[in-house]
Amino acid sequence: MFKPAERLATLPTPATIAMAARARELKAQGKPVISLALGEPDFPSPNAALEGAVAEVRAGHTGYPPIPGQKPLLEAIAAKFKRDNGLDVSLEQLMVCNGGKQAIFNAFMASLNEGDEVVVPAPYWVSYPLIARMFGGVPVEVPCREEDGFRPQAEAIRAAITLRTRWLVLNFPNNPTGAILERADLEAIAAVLRDAPHVMVMSDEIYEHLTFDGKAHLSLLNVAPDLAERVLIINGMSKAYAMTGWRVGFACGPVPLIKAMIKVQGNATSGICTLAQGGAAAALREDMAGVQAMRATYERRRGVVVGALQQITGLSCAMPQGAFYAYPGLSALMGMHSAGGRLLKDDVAFAEALLEEAHIATVPGSAFGYGPHLRLSFAAADAELAEACERLKDFVAGIK
Ligand code: PLP
Repeated sequence: MFKPAERLATLPTPATIAMAARARELKAQGKPVISLALGEPDFPSPNAALEGAVAEVRAGHTGYPPIPGQKPLLEAIAAKFKRDNGLDVSLEQLMVCNGGKQAIFNAFMASLNEGDEVVVPAPYWVSYPLIARMFGGVPVEVPCREEDGFRPQAEAIRAAITLRTRWLVLNFPNNPTGAILERADLEAIAAVLRDAPHVMVMSDEIYEHLTFDGKAHLSLLNVAPDLAERVLIINGMSKAYAMTGWRVGFACGPVPLIKAMIKVQGNATSGICTLAQGGAAAALREDMAGVQAMRATYERRRGVVVGALQQITGLSCAMPQGAFYAYPGLSALMGMHSAGGRLLKDDVAFAEALLEEAHIATVPGSAFGYGPHLRLSFAAADAELAEACERLKDFVAGIK
């Protein structure tokens, strides 16, 4: 009889994946499910990416790739860091991975020993604590406060750091809250890090291009270049370029860490599909017009969705400043019953009732370490979003 490894035994299935699976089941039964559960852009990938992939095949680049990534893509990534972040990086500081997710996996596998602590501000993207735990890491949550706009406070980070802390994870623009960090936030965090020289920083900037209200993303290294030897930037093609299925992400960090991550990757995947790398390089070399057009669409949808949520009595919803998620709070509705008679004891029960009764798939905030909330992705078609807002309004109106 198969018995999973101990390191997997206590690892839950991420709620994002569980929700999407139940939504698929209901859809297969013919239910009119609207899925706002996954962080998946609803745009096609850029033409340049398609052409770049085809060119790669035509050029006969169908053998094993170099493990860290193909040179033209590494060069395009270095140029991207210069263009978008004002950072000068060498090719040795870069590697291409199967999505940003594998970059995180590589980094934790390459660095964590049993009992090492990973400080993660909550709410957080589900995968940081899960991946850390796979390698014996101990996630240490630092709750952010809604009244601080879900931005972590430097002193709370300082209080969470111990001698066992290996990493601080920063993900801004944030999934699930859409919070972004201002210069003052980053300066305060940098000051804490200067007092804790044993702590590395994983800065996941995968939503960097999706910022709203004229705000621009700032990287920690823009305000604290002195920390370069301790900062690993995670990024990728999935979100801004609508290239989730291509599985191209990348990491930029200190050379010894990147070397260790390449060692992990060499034993895991032997590198990234050459076609996907050709496509990603071509997309990165394009001007930013396509990305900007998608960003503007998300900003418009954010206004529609969050505007509608703010009109629903019982929900509280801050305006996200980036990414493509709304994160309404549900505390006023906890302990009540849905029209279908389900006890809404927590946000998981709320999300389940919403899926079963109104056929809207979302993710409960507790999956991100911060409930009772709900995460709704507005990376979906306008008509679906409008219909989902109507159904949500009726669902909440039916709560007693
Ligand atoms: N980082 C964050 C914050 C995310 O939300 C995601 C995807 O949902 C990823 C990284 C990983 O994306 P990918 O592996 O598709 O590059």
